[in-house]
Amino acid sequence: MQKHFIIATTMIAMMGLGSCTHRHHYQSYEDYPCKRGSLREVKYAPNETQFTLWSPNADSVTLQIYDNMRSEVPVEVHTMSVRHDGTWEIVVRGDLIGKGYTFLVREADSPYPLHETPGIFATAVGVNGRRAAIYPDSPIEGTKTKTKTKTNTKTAEPVIIYEMHYRDMTAHASAGVKHPGKFLAFTEHGTVSPEGLATGIDHLKELGVTHVQLLPSYDYGSIDEAHLVDNRYNWGYDPVNYNVPEGSYSTNPYDPACRVQEFKQMIQALHEAGIKVVMDVVYNHTYDVAESNFTQTVPGYFYRTREDGSLGNASGCGNETASEREMMRRFMVESVCYWATEYGIDGFRFDLMAIHDIETMKAIRAALDKINPTILTYGEGWAAETPLTPVDIQPIKANVHQMPRIGAFSDELRDGLRGSCWNDKDEGFLSGKAGCEQSIRFGVVGAIAHPGVDMTKVNYSQKPWAKQPTQMIAYASCHDDMMLTDRLRSCVRPKRGKVISDEELMRLDMLAQTIVMTSQGIPFIWNGEEIMRDKKGVHNSFCSPDAVNAIDWSLKAKNKALFDYYCGLIAMRKAHPAFWMGKADLVRKNVTFLDTPDCVVAYRIQGEAVKDSWKDIIVVVNANRHDVRFTLPTTNNYTAVLKDGEINLNGLGEVQGEVTVAAQRALILIKQ
Ligand code: CA
Repeated sequence: MQKHFIIATTMIAMMGLGSCTHRHHYQSYEDYPCKRGSLREVKYAPNETQFTLWSPNADSVTLQIYDNMRSEVPVEVHTMSVRHDGTWEIVVRGDLIGKGYTFLVREADSPYPLHETPGIFATAVGVNGRRAAIYPDSPIEGTKTKTKTKTNTKTAEPVIIYEMHYRDMTAHASAGVKHPGKFLAFTEHGTVSPEGLATGIDHLKELGVTHVQLLPSYDYGSIDEAHLVDNRYNWGYDPVNYNVPEGSYSTNPYDPACRVQEFKQMIQALHEAGIKVVMDVVYNHTYDVAESNFTQTVPGYFYRTREDGSLGNASGCGNETASEREMMRRFMVESVCYWATEYGIDGFRFDLMAIHDIETMKAIRAALDKINPTILTYGEGWAAETPLTPVDIQPIKANVHQMPRIGAFSDELRDGLRGSCWNDKDEGFLSGKAGCEQSIRFGVVGAIAHPGVDMTKVNYSQKPWAKQPTQMIAYASCHDDMMLTDRLRSCVRPKRGKVISDEELMRLDMLAQTIVMTSQGIPFIWNGEEIMRDKKGVHNSFCSPDAVNAIDWSLKAKNKALFDYYCGLIAMRKAHPAFWMGKADLVRKNVTFLDTPDCVVAYRIQGEAVKDSWKDIIVVVNANRHDVRFTLPTTNNYTAVLKDGEINLNGLGEVQGEVTVAAQRALILIKQ
């Protein structure tokens, strides 16, 4: 597009403030000047508050100050003046703490109706996020100090991620919490199921996961915060204010301090329990376009459009944002840095990451490294529909190798285990389908190039896509699609003519997690998998009621054997760096695959290479409905540490020569 802009109009003296507006009309978004410095819109001091709002094409911007969050009429209205960087500003004298504010941005050419907006970078808001509040930063303890382990970026850590939703975890009466579905539920210790087993934060601690990944926790639009008695459920993939916690998870969404403080209390409680916190961030689209803060602040700029003017829809939700534009990129970078410093967030999971662009993702990584290089960054290496960007700039799986220390989910392993995500009846390795073995191997090595993986037989990817194994997330279930239990019920039933038994489901769940937890990628589980919950067969439960989504914690007692197995796998992984070597070269050299019949995958890990006390490890996973005989690769004596659904790191007996691996069971042998 040819670049030129028209400087139209005049200078208008405004309200006796001596300020003026220059009406600039830029023809291309690329011509918009960028805001200098931070994108934060409020700089509070007890004697005065500075407001700045970036909106280069606006004809005027008005600041409205409300006495409190419930008052209907502004007590002060100020016309702002524009700077050369397209930013409108004003300094308001006096102590504005606790006051509410919005902006009114008038842009004559905007096709969108005018609404009040709290701006794009509000950090405190009232009910439903319509109005922002003056509320000072107060970083939670320990987050301001930069990490001392800056040199440690290349060392792998035993990361085990647990994805969870507030209501799934605590809305059911059996969770026994005082604050069901709220941030505060995770500050409550001593909560138990009716059978007396730990729930909530104590359950997480018992399980031993290192990170929780929270479903969207920023302010989103699909739950009416003014009617929380309805107890509506939503996953929250519909952002409104990106830099404020969601009000429906707080005990009082009307009070701007409440959601901020309670979210911080929860993070602190998790940190004290030794659990790090990953946020699911959804910069790829907004809940609404016409009324979004992006549109109301800078109409059009933040979204991609086709040549005919229609909105891109790579999110499948009616719009896609434009990270390749400078100010959207800077918005994303500053937003994650804000969460990392103000709230002590330890990782970010990027929803539909492929909608963003590689340069933005790398800029995010670089900015987070300055705060704390151990902050995790990974995302979905795909989009719902094709983004309006060239494929070579998209952070899709195939381009992950260009983004050091940014990871992606492996659908190869997931669907290798359970069957194609496009067909609920399709079977995978777990239900005993031959031909999935190479997809499993690909997941075991962490999506890197490996001589033991035949890429011609791997599903979805023709080439390895991770440069390092820690760039691959290994999982069998997440919030999307059917739970593993539902999926196995769905695909196994038609073949066998009867419902799969709970005993078989548990065996297959154990098989799946044995592979996930011994993968050189980063293992990831979905809340309730460990106690064999289901979602009653619902595929996309984003707005299903608690009756579908809330975990019945009585299942923990019922399926205690599975829970213990998960705990055992997690403890084993954490204690043995052989399972998280971290570097592709080490994995290529020290993880080898052994010859096996159909529906069996076996691998040998030379732990000695990473100074593991387990010098030699053999993992055999048999998905057949019959026992298999397996010849060990050496004549050494091995100790079984995992056998027939039991785990004991001190040993479950010695074996030598040839072993039997029971039907639908895994076997792990070690040599010290
Ligand atoms: Ca909300």
